[in-house]
Amino acid sequence: MMKVKVAINGYGTIGKRVADAVSLQDDMEVVGVTKTRPDFEARLAAKRYPLYVAKPENVALFDEAGIEIQGTIEDLISKADIIVDCSPSKVGAENKARYYEKAGIKAIFQGGEKKDVAEVSFNALANYDEAVGKNYVRVVSCNTTGLTRLIYTIKENFRIGRIRATMLRRVVDPKEDKKGLVNGIMPDPVSIPSHHGPDVKTVLPDVDIVTTAFKLPTTLMHVHSLSIELKEDAKVEDVVSALDQEPRIMLLSAGDGFTSTAKVTELARELRMRYDLFENVVWRESIGIDGSDLFVTQAVHQEAIVVPENIDAIRAMFDLASREESIKKTNETLKIQKAF
Ligand code: NAD
Repeated sequence: MMKVKVAINGYGTIGKRVADAVSLQDDMEVVGVTKTRPDFEARLAAKRYPLYVAKPENVALFDEAGIEIQGTIEDLISKADIIVDCSPSKVGAENKARYYEKAGIKAIFQGGEKKDVAEVSFNALANYDEAVGKNYVRVVSCNTTGLTRLIYTIKENFRIGRIRATMLRRVVDPKEDKKGLVNGIMPDPVSIPSHHGPDVKTVLPDVDIVTTAFKLPTTLMHVHSLSIELKEDAKVEDVVSALDQEPRIMLLSAGDGFTSTAKVTELARELRMRYDLFENVVWRESIGIDGSDLFVTQAVHQEAIVVPENIDAIRAMFDLASREESIKKTNETLKIQKAF
């Protein structure tokens, strides 16, 4: 089988996970990854993958540090069929203008980019087919991916009206030591709406959603509290059963001891490398119906949740598989399955 040659530009939190996920697939391979600076992460990257320098002006720094490189981003682009850009927010758009457009290479961007960086914003459940054959695709952010999977699954099973949701966001990722929020809860933004609602509409255009968001002093996971208007009678058991049938949603129970994101993360530490949770984690007891309002609370592991969507986006862009085939293959290779 011909394998799609994938290059990862920006081997950070998302980039290293996408590289490892690509390596698990039989229809694609990693031809190289890039780092900007010769730090310990560059040394680790060079042990696993052919390493290239993202900023050509930094080549000498890698030579001085004794880290073997295979060339610059431009050399890597010449060997690849597609770039998965995992550089910091807004840098992807610069890379597109500077390198990808000139080389005429397909590229995937992450949620930190504006939606107009790509032809389509992507979530595998919601709009896989819109990415088929496209040259530029943006995988929406961790919060938007989490919201979209949950809302899509509810929407496929019940007639719904307006959605109101609050994001309680981890302030930074665990590795971050340059910024944080030691003591406080920060409305971010302080006014409505947060950008998450409009971002959900880039992949689910016909939902009526308004979101608010707060940053909290934790690094583990985001938590989302949603209220969804139901336009038909439904029982809690029907909602539980609908969510239970979607592999990318994991139902956990406070009664089993999952009292917080700390406990959810402890499970992930037993299950997965880098304690990655690719699934939305929905608290079973949080699913409640009051009149026509459905309430549900979920946790999202921000470092991992977009990884399956990046793999599915690659398959869609090369028309390698149908939506169902791709999602099934990605789920199997990443061991996305019910924990219990
Ligand atoms: P990160 O800081 O962990 O990694 C970014 C990497 O890109 C670093 O290794 C950095 O050295 C490198 N880089 C810097 N300048 C570059 C350049 N000009 N070209 C190529 N690489 C460069 O960031 P991250 O958390 O992995 O985020 C990457 C993207 O993914 C952002 O758009 C972000 O919004 C999005 N995202 C992040 C999360 C998350 O929670 N971490 C979740 C979903 C989406």
